[in-house]
Amino acid sequence: MRAIKRGERGPAVTEIRQILVTLGLMQPAPDSAEADHFDDATERAVRAFQQSRGLSVDGEVGAETWRALDAARWTLGARTLYYSVSNPLRGDDVRQLQERLLEMGYDAGRTDGTYGARTAKALSAFQREMGLVPDGSCGPQTLHTLRRLGRKVTGGSPLKLREESLFRASGPSLVGRQIVVDPGHGGSDPGVVVPDGPLRWTEADLAYDLATRLEGRLAAAGMRVHLTRGPLPIEAPSDADRAQLANDLSADLLISLHIDGHHNPEADGVATYHYGTENGVTSTMGERLAGLVQREIVARTGLRNCHTHAKTWELLRYTRMPAVRVDVGYLTSPKDRAQLTDPMFRERVVEAIVAAVQRMYYPAEIDVKTGTIDVSQLRLALGELSK
Ligand SMILES: [Zn+2]
Repeated sequence: MRAIKRGERGPAVTEIRQILVTLGLMQPAPDSAEADHFDDATERAVRAFQQSRGLSVDGEVGAETWRALDAARWTLGARTLYYSVSNPLRGDDVRQLQERLLEMGYDAGRTDGTYGARTAKALSAFQREMGLVPDGSCGPQTLHTLRRLGRKVTGGSPLKLREESLFRASGPSLVGRQIVVDPGHGGSDPGVVVPDGPLRWTEADLAYDLATRLEGRLAAAGMRVHLTRGPLPIEAPSDADRAQLANDLSADLLISLHIDGHHNPEADGVATYHYGTENGVTSTMGERLAGLVQREIVARTGLRNCHTHAKTWELLRYTRMPAVRVDVGYLTSPKDRAQLTDPMFRERVVEAIVAAVQRMYYPAEIDVKTGTIDVSQLRLALGELSK
């Protein structure tokens, strides 16, 4: 969808304003002739909304912001929630239910605001234990029971415990594990573009180069590697499609590769993102992978450390496996660009990511110091471990 932005008028703007008013982010238009106008106040409200949801804060309503706004209309109890295979319900009410179930120790999966099979199954388990009809749909009676229990009943942090124990049980070998490597952008979307004489550097091309190098190294370590797109300028998949691909493959990990850009050429450095919300719901293993990727890249490349951050971007939210996105430097920074355009530097970035992936599977007691794994010795070390 085309982004709707400041200065525009129309029924879509009226709808956006209505949602923002309902959320308490702006006042209704004093003059009804202004109700369909994307004015300064609307832009401020959109920015505040984007900030609160961990979206990119650009003050425009593109596809992702629109989906988040659409979901925000619903609060738990406003409608009956049920599982539909063909047309799954999405909304903040679903997310609230998922968070509630997780708090109580029911495995509703990720709090992605989508009413899938796992949410229905978790709700059925709850209903059964409460003596309700275990139909997996959340109507008035189930809501009443949830409310009656209040916030007192909690089961620790089941999402965290489940993810961690699965990983611990799986052993240090990379052989046979599936990883999705996602070069950002592609097709008609080059991402960040910087002209260089008669040439131009694009984020999409550099991300693709990093992805194929990473593919080679991980495959050599015995992993099954899938790329989300090819190098050709055919239409690139959306982030939701990329997440879906990883889910369909039941991948063990997903790593998305981007390169940042900023109008200020002084902005530079590497940052890694994992799934998490501002109210503390986080993918623990995603956070761990992000930390390892970030530390290894900083140690092995000397890029400025812009740290790890929790985001609710669709790619991170919809994926069921630990997933991270790394923005490897700024193409708009002369300093970072000089490095990124050097193939030897890109090789070091890839080595750092391979080391991080390997460390994800090391048992805690033999974890090693950042920057110290010699990736070429990897298979050797694994042979030792499995004896
Ligand atoms: Zn990007």
